[in-house]
Amino acid sequence: MNKETPSLSGFYKLNQGERWNRLATVFDLSAEEIGLLKRDGALPHELTDLFIENAVGNFPMPLGLVTNVLVNGEEFAVPFAVEESSVIAASSNASKWVKQSGGFTATCLGSLMIGQIQILDIAPEKMEELADKILASKELLLQRANETHPRLVKRGGGARNIEVRSFPHAEIPFMVVHVHLDTQEAMGANLVNTVCERLAPEIESLVGGRAGLRILSNYADQRLFRAHCKVNPELLALNEPDRKLSGAEVAKRIVEAYVFAKYDPYRATTHNKGIMNGVDPLVIATGNDWRAIEAGVHTYAAREGRYQSLSRWWIDEEGMLNGEVTLPLQFGTVGGVTRLHPVSQLSLRILREPTVKTLSQIACCTGLASNLAALRALVTTGIQAGHMKLHAKNLALGAGARGKEIELVAGEMVKAKDVSATHAERLLEFFRNSSIIDAPVQQSLS
Ligand code: NDP
Repeated sequence: MNKETPSLSGFYKLNQGERWNRLATVFDLSAEEIGLLKRDGALPHELTDLFIENAVGNFPMPLGLVTNVLVNGEEFAVPFAVEESSVIAASSNASKWVKQSGGFTATCLGSLMIGQIQILDIAPEKMEELADKILASKELLLQRANETHPRLVKRGGGARNIEVRSFPHAEIPFMVVHVHLDTQEAMGANLVNTVCERLAPEIESLVGGRAGLRILSNYADQRLFRAHCKVNPELLALNEPDRKLSGAEVAKRIVEAYVFAKYDPYRATTHNKGIMNGVDPLVIATGNDWRAIEAGVHTYAAREGRYQSLSRWWIDEEGMLNGEVTLPLQFGTVGGVTRLHPVSQLSLRILREPTVKTLSQIACCTGLASNLAALRALVTTGIQAGHMKLHAKNLALGAGARGKEIELVAGEMVKAKDVSATHAERLLEFFRNSSIIDAPVQQSLS
């Protein structure tokens, strides 16, 4: 692209065909490359164009199923949209250990979203008195909030509480009014934002200040879900010919690994990434807002002033390994694109049309399962053994292997304990130049 002339000005005004033509010219894309963008697959271009601005195509993501997820006595096959190898295998394996030990127990600790209204131009010394004044008008404010969404109230939702926080020592002193809202089956961002905008002038006239921001908080600490599992350590034992570890030893090492994540933010970040390996793919598969959930979860991990593990692991008096995770989750089963994206609709059907509560509880369970699988791998064979087995296939594919060649190249790399792109290329060349690849495979390459 010519760096001096921004060639995409007015891009948003073009129709889909014109955008592809413009892209081809500006970025010198071939017909084949533009063809990739033209394929719409399960998401028709008309919808893509409605969902986002300047749409040029879709970004396909693999969709798979995590199996064996037994939550409160009910078994689910959980759709995961994820590009990373081994995530689904890990969550399924650990879910199986949990299932064989009785399954997950999951609970909802709260289901309220928070809206924030910032109030400025208030003298710091008056803040305490004005906070009392706002709280004295709580019922009136809740009533006003509920007038904004009569249908939500009819569905059993609505405004539940008002809280006030003050920041008198900030360089620009301000107060914040929190509105807690039960958004029922919706994630609630738009619902909450409307309420905040509706209440702002009401609060301004009550305290005499000026409303600043009026928007939801993605730190959904009033919308918490918890999953617990109790695993028979025998299921975790390592029984490889050259390496054996008893289940009790593996369980003990998992607890040691958890303590590492509890105290060290460097480790906690990766530990929590492992938990989110089991959450984000479900968020994406159901058309939910993963940025919102990621943001909220990590703030929750730092709620005590230090970033720490979202899960905890311990061994009980019967020698069982116990795990628990608590997550602030902002799922919706209506709203956003959940009911518009054809694949998210399908995912919700595969999950047997769960409520937001059930969906959030399932996410906690698959998150905890992913955590367990990663911890077991880390304290036994190391994470790379299993990961590399699957990653080897991607490398083989990247090197140009097709059909049966993929297994052949990947298998050889794992056997040689050298899983790398260079090795994949060397092996492929070797196999192709030798008689190892049989005729049918050679044919399938052409
Ligand atoms: P929507 O505004 O898309 O949909 C919610 C609407 O669904 C409700 O207003 C209600 O409308 C309808 N509805 C139907 N059945 C139910 C039910 N059983 N329970 C509740 N509502 C129901 O979605 P949200 O308000 O949930 O907002 C989510 C979207 O906002 C996401 O796309 C998110 O990405 C985006 N967003 C996120 C932000 C953030 O996270 N910071 C900021 C801004 C937007 P009715 O009563 O008319 O039927």
